[in-house]
Order: sequence, then C-alpha cells, then structure tokens
Amino acid sequence: MSLESPDILLPDEPAMLQLAARMAQCLPTSRQPFVIYLQGDLGTGKTTLTRGMLRALGERGAVRSPTYGLIAQYGTPDGAVVHLDLYRLRSPVELQQLGLVDYLPDSRLWLIEWPELATGEGLPPADAVVHIAVAAQGRRVRCEARTEPGRAWVRAHSADTGS
Ligand code: ADP
Ligand code: MG
Repeated sequence: MSLESPDILLPDEPAMLQLAARMAQCLPTSRQPFVIYLQGDLGTGKTTLTRGMLRALGERGAVRSPTYGLIAQYGTPDGAVVHLDLYRLRSPVELQQLGLVDYLPDSRLWLIEWPELATGEGLPPADAVVHIAVAAQGRRVRCEARTEPGRAWVRAHSADTGS
C-alpha cells in the first residue's frame, strides 16, 4: 500500500510554492476529506506548503500557523480546508477538546503539522505524509502514500513536473 516519491529538491520558497500548487491541483475530487501529514523540523516549510496549497485552492486571506488554538479552517470554493498545527499541543485531552470529528464531514482537505505529537488515536489517518528536510541548497521533500487515494495523489503530482 505504501508508495514513496523520489526526493524532490526545491532551491527556494517559490519552488516550494510551485510544488504546493501542483499538489493542490492533483487532489482527488471526491467528497471524502483527503488527509496530509506534514513532517519536518521547525522552519523547514510545513506552513509554507500549506499556504501554497491554500492559495492554489483559492484562499486569498493570510495563511499562517494558528497562534491561538491549534486549528484553522478555510472555506475554499471546493470545500473546507482544515489546518492543524500541533506544535503547541500539551496533552491528548487538548486534542480531544478540539472536537476534530465535527470538522470532518464537510472538509475537503486536512493539512496537519507535527502529527507525531498526537499520541494514540485522535487524528484522522493520513492518506499521505510529506517529509520536508533542509538540503544543502533549499529543501528536500519526499512524499509517502498510505492509502489508495494517497498513491494516486503522489503519483499524479510527482509525474506532472508543472514546468
Ligand atoms: P515550518 O512550518 O515547517 O516551521 P515555515 O513554513 O513557517 O516552516 O518556514 C519555513 C521557512 O523556510 C520560511 O522562511 C520559508 O521562506 C523558507 N523556505 C520554504 N521553502 C524553502 C525552500 N525550498 N528553500 C529555502 N527556503 C525555504
Ligand atoms: Mg509551521
């Protein structure tokens, strides 16, 4: 079931935003929410990728990590996008209190930063995990698919070079 993309090298932020736009264009059109975990150290570009995807989906307002609370929701023309940043998560109770199940039905896409800080249950399972790391020049991104829709998505955006 698991499928990994080759490493994608992104020399600068515009390249990252371009990848994000391609990722947004390749999202499945089904009503089921598509869940992406974003993993990588602080400052690698998880929020940048989120911003790029949201821009491509038509969000015009500011996109930054939620400072108050851990969750932000955006209404895009194709459905709601939920952005979670668990960096400041202190306990599993706090995650429960967010009431994530209430966000699930009408959402099209979930982008979750620091999913590894949520222990046990509590997060919707990932269709794909995007790993971001600092490279000699810029960033290195690798995508891991965990479901069938995730595989289709990784295949689609890795094949389409978008140039
Ligand atoms: P995170 O959410 O992972 O903590 P941010 O997206 O907030 O990281 O910040 C990432 C920083 O790295 C920003 O300053 C952004 O401009 C920069 N950045 C993003 N992508 C690249 C890239 N491909 N090459 C170099 N710098 C990048
Ligand atoms: Mg961030």
